[in-house]
Amino acid sequence: MGRDKISKKKSNIRRYINKQRTKKLSHKVFELLPNEIKKDTSLLKYWFKRYRLFSKFDLGIKLDKESWFSVTPEKISKNIAKKCLCDLLIDGFCGAGGNTIQFAFTCKKVIAIDIDPIKIELARNNARVYGVENKIEFIIGDYLSLIPTLKADVVFLSPPWGGPTYLSQTIFDLDNIMPQYGGGKNLFEMTRKVTENIAYFLPRNIDLKQCIRLAGDRKHVEFENNYFNNILNSKTAYYGNLVNENIS
Ligand code: ADP
Repeated sequence: MGRDKISKKKSNIRRYINKQRTKKLSHKVFELLPNEIKKDTSLLKYWFKRYRLFSKFDLGIKLDKESWFSVTPEKISKNIAKKCLCDLLIDGFCGAGGNTIQFAFTCKKVIAIDIDPIKIELARNNARVYGVENKIEFIIGDYLSLIPTLKADVVFLSPPWGGPTYLSQTIFDLDNIMPQYGGGKNLFEMTRKVTENIAYFLPRNIDLKQCIRLAGDRKHVEFENNYFNNILNSKTAYYGNLVNENIS
């Protein structure tokens, strides 16, 4: 057999072995995946970022399908929590607990509300993983209906943005937020009955003029851009005492 033929055979064998290895590896990786990702592999891109969503992911973090794309990445949650440092904070739409957990590190007590009992179960589990479960009071309920019963130094609002289509608009209108409750402006006005110190977590294409109008005549608002992987992920609008006096 000529040299060329031998080296061709060798490289075919190498290719075959590599293929088999990859097959084995992908089988192993598949077995590692949480069930909700096995069922919907379009979520895989979020799974690859799991440690940036929760650095303690491997210690028992649990998410459901929606939480995979809506949970706030840990670096962003940490940053917001530093700005919201206070005694008593309410997280009105806590989801699987990404923000709640970080608030529990900077605040004395956190009240975490979500209308979906499954989200509360996930958030409680995830808070346990981070060792902060006992700093959080979990409430299953409609945030807006609960407002008359609430007291807090700071409220964090991370309401539904109406699904992933929010980016299809050039400028996102606050009215798209929970229209069944009168929109994002009404949500803000209702929250002011609890406190003026509000952190509003909003899409990156939010109408900034609308957010400035929410602050009233003094126009006391501070915007922060939240980056994930060097890409603008969202914006947080801070009101009341949360505004950094040096830059407003
Ligand atoms: P998005 O996908 O746009 O981020 P979701 O529909 O997932 O929004 O909502 C974000 C979170 O808010 C979810 O955990 C959801 O259960 C919760 N939520 C929705 N409506 C209410 C409400 N009225 N009160 C409290 N929590 C709510």
